Amino acid sequence: MLSQLREIVEQVSKVENVNQALDIFVKQTCSAMATECCTVYLANEEMQRLELMATQGLKFKGDKIHIGFEEGLVGLVKRSAEPINLAEASKHPNFKYFKQLGEEVYHSFLGTPIIYRKQVLGVLVVQQKTPRSFSEMEVSFLVTLAAQLAVIVAHAQTQGQWLLNKKKQQSITGVGASSGVAIGEFWWDDTQPQLSEVYPASTLDIDREQEWLALAIESALSDFRKMRKKLDSDINKEALAIFDLFTHLLNDPMLRKDLKAQIQKGDRADWALRQVVESYSNRFARMSDVYLRERAQDIRELGQRLLFFLHNTEQEQHQLEEPIILVVRELTATILAALPKDKLLAVVSIEGAANSHAAILSRALGIPAVMGVSINLKDINGKTGIVDGYSGKVFISPAKSILSEYRALANEESELSKMVNEAIAQPAVTQDGSHIELMLNSGLSADTNIAINQGVDGVGLYRTEFSFLLQHRFPSEEEQIQQYSSVLNAYPDKRVVMRTLDIGGDKPLPYLPIEEDNPFLGWRGIRFTLDHPDIFLIQLRAMMRASKAHNNLSILLPMISGTRELDDALRLIHQAYKEAIKLDPSIVMPEIGIMVEVPSMLYLLPLIADKIDFVSVGTNDLTQYLLAVDRNNSRVADVYESMHPAVVMALKQIQQICAAHNIPVCVCGELAGDPIGALLLIGLGYTTLSMNTANVAKVKYLVRHAKMSQLTELADKAVVQPYGKDIYNMMLDYFEEQGLSGFVRAGKK
Ligand code: PEP
Ligand code: MG
Repeated sequence: MLSQLREIVEQVSKVENVNQALDIFVKQTCSAMATECCTVYLANEEMQRLELMATQGLKFKGDKIHIGFEEGLVGLVKRSAEPINLAEASKHPNFKYFKQLGEEVYHSFLGTPIIYRKQVLGVLVVQQKTPRSFSEMEVSFLVTLAAQLAVIVAHAQTQGQWLLNKKKQQSITGVGASSGVAIGEFWWDDTQPQLSEVYPASTLDIDREQEWLALAIESALSDFRKMRKKLDSDINKEALAIFDLFTHLLNDPMLRKDLKAQIQKGDRADWALRQVVESYSNRFARMSDVYLRERAQDIRELGQRLLFFLHNTEQEQHQLEEPIILVVRELTATILAALPKDKLLAVVSIEGAANSHAAILSRALGIPAVMGVSINLKDINGKTGIVDGYSGKVFISPAKSILSEYRALANEESELSKMVNEAIAQPAVTQDGSHIELMLNSGLSADTNIAINQGVDGVGLYRTEFSFLLQHRFPSEEEQIQQYSSVLNAYPDKRVVMRTLDIGGDKPLPYLPIEEDNPFLGWRGIRFTLDHPDIFLIQLRAMMRASKAHNNLSILLPMISGTRELDDALRLIHQAYKEAIKLDPSIVMPEIGIMVEVPSMLYLLPLIADKIDFVSVGTNDLTQYLLAVDRNNSRVADVYESMHPAVVMALKQIQQICAAHNIPVCVCGELAGDPIGALLLIGLGYTTLSMNTANVAKVKYLVRHAKMSQLTELADKAVVQPYGKDIYNMMLDYFEEQGLSGFVRAGKK
């Protein structure tokens, strides 16, 4: 049966059209199980009914046939989420005879739910004319088939291939990449040449092609300068980093060399460009880190821009009369830059995810954005739409009631954003006088000019990996000094916490592949740098030498799991310092801290307290390691609970140990920038939080409107809750009571 199963799955997965796939599926299942009838029903949750999608053996000519969730044996399988095996179906109390299906000829019935991630998506049924009970083997076979079918169905549904509630279907869901809501007309422009449409072409005049390429590179560089200038007044520096990244890449000798070499082989410049860009972007696309994977899109965008200039196509300035909701295949920073900001209500992108540079840019511009939306472009132009950047929903020609609901929401939104930004320069002090230090997380993009965020007290986490990942080799000490100085000099009077290299895990270096079965438990962070004192010492020295102008550097060690690692790291830090002051005696020894992200440190912290100057809690990894759940695996995303009781208790414990030993402590994981998470952490006693620039104004506002006494009370209750959802819901209630629900806009769990 295993080979039959494989064969069915193989045949079905070859077919692109899902309805055809289902037809093949039911036919093959009948023949594999030697039975006369097989039917697939899919659940329409909105209508509370199961709709017949494909059958072999029942009367069905593509008409709408449906069975209510409460009706018959099929409904019972859906409700109970368990297989039902009956030799004589009509004897079962739930049996219901559906005349239009011509079922009267069948006696035996075996139905099994089609379940995907705990959700019953439908029911798979086989029926037979002769009364007989299906064997245990056959039941297992059908259950296995249903599990395979579930994956196909779930995939097709996310692709929007089945709109079960066609008339009622009002929204398409993507990924909310920039919060906020917008209402307006959709606008889609598909007039530009696409890199993906460049096909193999050779040249006899290699020199001319080389010249053509050089000219295109120059034009693109000057275009990036113009774009950067144009956007400079609108957005913060981090968002502008995309143009610095493009400039940096275009000036990269390796990329130029690769492009030239490809043309030298006889390829036409545009075809050479496509090949080189694809090989670069594939390298990023293969990385398991979501953020880095999304950099593949930046590389493609760069290629796309170069193509414009190779084709000598000056980008048209679109004359838009009214503000629009921009629909694009792939949102890019240049598309955003080319359109006047006051004409852009929102952005809907078919491809892309929440961490792409373009998504960062739209957040910086304050434009709601939804990415990964399966939308039919042909029908979209000029239609009225709603974009909900919170839920990731996009409505096309919505009903009046929905429109008025969203109009009210949009008004609330603009008031909220005005409100939080008015207070950005104010100190983050709670109503009862507790000062909270708000720091910035940075370094995840290739920004040489770090975002200058006026609202922060310094940089709480500067991730140094990115400049290592973008190169073809380890960056030199001088290159690192340059990079780090630009960050340290941007905050001359404030503390900048730079973390030493945290590669490995989900961030392998392209030039140093590490093959491991469990990379998150492997050669990662400090483990790697301690094994490579050469690389570590260069980085430490570069940081120290870069700090000489302002002496504002603190060094943070990632992934420390034991005392020996800390001792070894400290020894190397002191060695680097000795070497650095030989070159410049004015350099001051930086403060040294550790990330608490490996659970072992919860127990060791009191014992190593006198060795360190500060602690930074990495909730992203702490949650991953405490709950044994991969932070990048979407299958277990619901297990990755950032407010899991064990996580909350661990956070309380870390805070208490640090307070008892007088160690300054900051939280720099994503929880610190989340409205609910931030207030919970403050209640737990944390007074320093480090977050992405986008969250600073919101969190500051929340701090200024909260009472420490109330937050402490909430946190005291949180640490005795056995369920994470109760902690979350309790915090949600608090937000509602305080009139702050606009910051969350998500329902109870
Ligand atoms: C963390 O683990 O919470 C953290 C801030 O580090 P990173 O996300 O870079 O692993
Ligand atoms: Mg971490």
